[in-house]
Amino acid sequence: MKIKFEGTRGEIEEYSRKHRHHSSLLVEEGKFKLLIDHGVKTCSLERIKPDAILITHAHPDHFAWTKKNLQTNIPIYLTRQTFNYARFKPQNYNFIKPNKKFKLGPFTILPYKVIHSIRCPALGFKVSLNRKSLIYNPDLIDIVNKNKILKNVSLYIGDGSSIRSNLVRRKNNKLFGHTRIQTQINWCRKYKISNVIFTHFGKEALSFGDKKLEKKLKQKNPDINIKVSYDGMVIKF
Ligand SMILES: [Zn+2]
Ligand SMILES: [Zn+2]
Repeated sequence: MKIKFEGTRGEIEEYSRKHRHHSSLLVEEGKFKLLIDHGVKTCSLERIKPDAILITHAHPDHFAWTKKNLQTNIPIYLTRQTFNYARFKPQNYNFIKPNKKFKLGPFTILPYKVIHSIRCPALGFKVSLNRKSLIYNPDLIDIVNKNKILKNVSLYIGDGSSIRSNLVRRKNNKLFGHTRIQTQINWCRKYKISNVIFTHFGKEALSFGDKKLEKKLKQKNPDINIKVSYDGMVIKF
């Protein structure tokens, strides 16, 4: 499996040379290319040429169809809620449900519920091949069923929106927003996940700088292999 970070930026105005495109991940095995999320500011689909696209939720940094009427025949996998929320509709769509596994090319995909937005309910994805599994949840406060989802995971890719600031909000007793980086590292420690990469960076991480952030995270968590991703980063996994 080869993974490429097509984009690593959250829904913020600021950007840098290394975090220009909205968060998006390309997972490749053999000739099959699976893209997770395709936001407003990313490489064109003609350039990426994915075989299928998974969508986590209907925020514009993840689902370009909320703002643009993109024409493509590439099959897009999303929940009915995400489809309904978007202003424009992809032509070739397939509805998926949390906790219902399915196959895409060589991969087994498990969508799962995460807490992130009230109006745009979000999924995370567990992508498995042979005995390896990666988790991708670029935006979240929490995973609904951590005991099940974080078991036997080789790589956790998580939400880099918040280092110190509290981005968890509450409305009508419901939570929305983003949890901190350290909280996610603590989950990984508990579930014995030793490889962790962050994406979806916000203002805080951008002003901090990648090297400084990575160094600080490694110092605090020497038992875990932590990386700060950047646009175009490729990992063999
Ligand atoms: Zn986002
Ligand atoms: Zn979001």
